[in-house]
Amino acid sequence: MSTEIKTTCPYCGVGCGVIARIDDNGTVSVKGDADHPANFGRLCSKGSALAETIDLDGRVLHPQINGERASWDKALDLVASRFSQTIAEHGPDSVAFYVSGQLLTEDYYIANKLMKGFIGSANIDTNSRLCMSSSVAGHKRAFGADTVPGTYEDIELADLVILTGSNLAWCHPVIYQRLAAAKAARPSMKIVVIDPRRTMTADIADLHLAIRPDGDVALFMGLLAHLAGTAAIDQNYIGKHTNGFAEAFAAASTLDIADLMELTGLPSMQLRQFFRLFEETEKVVTCYSQGVNQSASGTDKVNAIVNCHLATGRIGRPGMGPFSLTGQPNAMGGREVGGLANMLAAHMAIENPEDCDRVQRFWQSPDIARKAGLKAVDMFRAVADGRIKALWIMATNPVVSMPDADAVAAAIAACPFVVVSDVLQETDTTQYAHVLLPSLGWGEKDGTVTNSERRISRQRAFLDQPGEAKADWWQMAEVGRRMGFADEFSFPSAADVFAEHAALSAFENDGSRDFDIGAHARTDAATYDALAPFQWPQPEHAAAGITRFFGEGGFFHADRKARFIAVEVPVSDRTNTDFPLTLNTGRIRDQWHTMTRTGKSARLSAHIAEPFAEIHPRDAMEIGVASAALVEIESPYGTAVVRALVTDRQARGSLFVPMHWNDQFAAKARIDAVVAPLTDPVSGQPASKNVAVSARPLRVE
Ligand code: SF4
Repeated sequence: MSTEIKTTCPYCGVGCGVIARIDDNGTVSVKGDADHPANFGRLCSKGSALAETIDLDGRVLHPQINGERASWDKALDLVASRFSQTIAEHGPDSVAFYVSGQLLTEDYYIANKLMKGFIGSANIDTNSRLCMSSSVAGHKRAFGADTVPGTYEDIELADLVILTGSNLAWCHPVIYQRLAAAKAARPSMKIVVIDPRRTMTADIADLHLAIRPDGDVALFMGLLAHLAGTAAIDQNYIGKHTNGFAEAFAAASTLDIADLMELTGLPSMQLRQFFRLFEETEKVVTCYSQGVNQSASGTDKVNAIVNCHLATGRIGRPGMGPFSLTGQPNAMGGREVGGLANMLAAHMAIENPEDCDRVQRFWQSPDIARKAGLKAVDMFRAVADGRIKALWIMATNPVVSMPDADAVAAAIAACPFVVVSDVLQETDTTQYAHVLLPSLGWGEKDGTVTNSERRISRQRAFLDQPGEAKADWWQMAEVGRRMGFADEFSFPSAADVFAEHAALSAFENDGSRDFDIGAHARTDAATYDALAPFQWPQPEHAAAGITRFFGEGGFFHADRKARFIAVEVPVSDRTNTDFPLTLNTGRIRDQWHTMTRTGKSARLSAHIAEPFAEIHPRDAMEIGVASAALVEIESPYGTAVVRALVTDRQARGSLFVPMHWNDQFAAKARIDAVVAPLTDPVSGQPASKNVAVSARPLRVE
């Protein structure tokens, strides 16, 4: 007799349903869940290989203090006492949590409650800062809250799908499969891919715009100015549901066609073709991902896109809208519980005193953070200069994934007290842990995740908990209890954490806050266990099953209107004579983040076995790098060594290097050691796609 358990893939933000089958002999296999509305049975290569990544090889199975095995009691007492002592001596802002989009919503909820409500600091940030915080900031500016208006179905219903800064085929493969199937069934559907690289996604495009790095703001400004003179503009929607159109249009119309050609690097014919396609097609969805978010102008890019949808009223209706595709499995769930340094739980605003009071009333907490905390890059700067003296890192590997990674490693190494919760004994980050806490992995832990279309799904345990590993939420709740908040952090199970989160989403809701995840989510453990995937909002005062926002206005600014944002043309060319190439970092099809899990699958590693730099043939010739030779990439921050992959898919003057490999693979394999810690001024998201570097053949002494 075998057992089948429905759960959710732990990799990208598509959030595919997975059925794990456990045979009598303990063998696990996986298949796509045909009933899950995100994937209808599909899985990509990473999801299909999940069963190959769940062995206990390399796992940390017991708490450790300074590398020695310790009991949970001893380890948790030490964490609680060191955090309490640091706070007592240096104040609440001297401690920080750096968490992850890999955490479940329940983990995120407890982390936020402890840091913001009971420690009284907002120094909790997440690797989701590196992933989608520009979308959060853009949504907040335009809509008044961080809300994704549409659903995956809109991508299939659209007549024009624009993919900007998104290699969908490799990074959100199941959405790509749904899009490709929709286009095959309805060939009149048009696809535009906007990307400096000719990626695999570009192969499906009717029009590929090989835009200059960070040319997107100018492109969508040009589009807005074009639309304003056409019948596509929706004056009724603009007048009834928005503010600020005149200012945004005035800013956009400062650019003429020659400026647009210069700023985007695109010929006028392609610009006009793109503008006409958008103008003439009512059902337009614009999907965007890291190429938009990971930029020093990321928030303006998001708003430049949203401006065009607001101006045409093409938002929140079937087949229409701007659509942020999140990178991580639970970046969205983290946002729902306020998992960024500048957010509060349940989409309330940390800068709004009434919201702070409301959350504090709900938590009955002695304190509440009332100002934003340190965002990821600033947080590690504060670790480096000694302002942060105790740091807890959960489910992430910042020594590989943060920009200026060598400086981040040095900062963590020098921090007086570092706690790391992880599933693995040896990552580039765990080596710096004073206290290493063993966490549960996929298949062992219980909770929920929210995908890019606001759909909440259960991750269910189907494996025994190995060794003494424990859930991340439990670890933090136990530390909270030991810091003096025994009642407030008394949660018998993940179901109880979720019920409290659901109750907060509806707390003192007068009907103006549509973030209620539903009465059905505030029930008992059995209901939680059986929870089928659902989209929020599910408010009690409205009919269940709302799937889109803003088709009829109803934005979250006080006047219930959206805001056009008058964006500015950013600096885009960061090169100079010493560093004449533009580095763009990203993902490959078969690896996930720093490869701590996907690296275990020989099948996945067979796709691309080692780190590489895509380089245009002319650039390769000029710097004297032959195909497959080792090339050294340098910036003022560090160096990395990878193999040259000479291809005309790469634009001249630029390099693409994947972000996955670490120094355990080879010395100098971490490309983020090269990436500058430059951030978007609004969102704080690092600009990982436009880094000035030099490249040369590796000289072997
Ligand atoms: Fe997992 Fe994303 Fe692949 Fe779906 S598309 S199986 S969520 S990695």
